[in-house]
Amino acid sequence: MVTIKSKKEIELMREACRVAALTQKAIEENIKPGMTTWELDQIAEQTMIKLGAIPAEKNYPSGYDDVPNFPASTCISINDEVIHGIPSKKRIIKEGDIVSVDLVALKNGFNGDCARTFKVGKVSKEAERLVEVTRKAFFEGIKYAVKGNRIGDVSHAIGEYVKSQGYSVVKEFQGHGIGRQMHEDPGIPNYGKAGRGIRLEPGMTLAIEPMVIQGKENILELDDGWTIITEDGSLAAHYENTILITEKNPEILTML
Ligand code: MG
Repeated sequence: MVTIKSKKEIELMREACRVAALTQKAIEENIKPGMTTWELDQIAEQTMIKLGAIPAEKNYPSGYDDVPNFPASTCISINDEVIHGIPSKKRIIKEGDIVSVDLVALKNGFNGDCARTFKVGKVSKEAERLVEVTRKAFFEGIKYAVKGNRIGDVSHAIGEYVKSQGYSVVKEFQGHGIGRQMHEDPGIPNYGKAGRGIRLEPGMTLAIEPMVIQGKENILELDDGWTIITEDGSLAAHYENTILITEKNPEILTML
């Protein structure tokens, strides 16, 4: 079901999303070569708790009987890892890595969801371009996230832009409505036909999240039951914000 948020609920969404944005800021300020992804995760967890929120990804169900719930507060995915990387005390961040951090802050019963891909030290020109195209794909998409348009208009804009830059979008994972639940309707693919899907209405809150691969679109899941990697070993990047559909342009709730 697609939920339309009331004025009061929108205020609560703003608050949760602000915590998510401040947590990304803390990560940006602290990420450096030599630290582990577990240390980075701890910074995020402590930031969210300090700001009165719960890291909502912790204990998120895997969907498999034989795979434990997600064990950390953030998903951290490096280089050819696309999404859902598990923070680890053994995983060291290196100079030249691109590190995607996806996190959800739950505050007062509402969720704020955002992802960024950070460049660690000096990265390759190609990595730099991938990260920038992924970020831009989000902004290309939300040009169409206005009242009366359809979800497919947003999906189409993202997919076409990414294709025009010579990259691939991930097809198996998508953006989503968000509110009291981390994942609400509608699903928002990063590709598709314009003019299809539900109409956008003021009060909808949506997580729009291009996941972009440098090479071919095929992905694999690691044996940990969580981590998604590119099949061809090429780099991947992720950029996500929670937005609010309004009477005019969308409001980006997870940017400071
Ligand atoms: Mg997310």
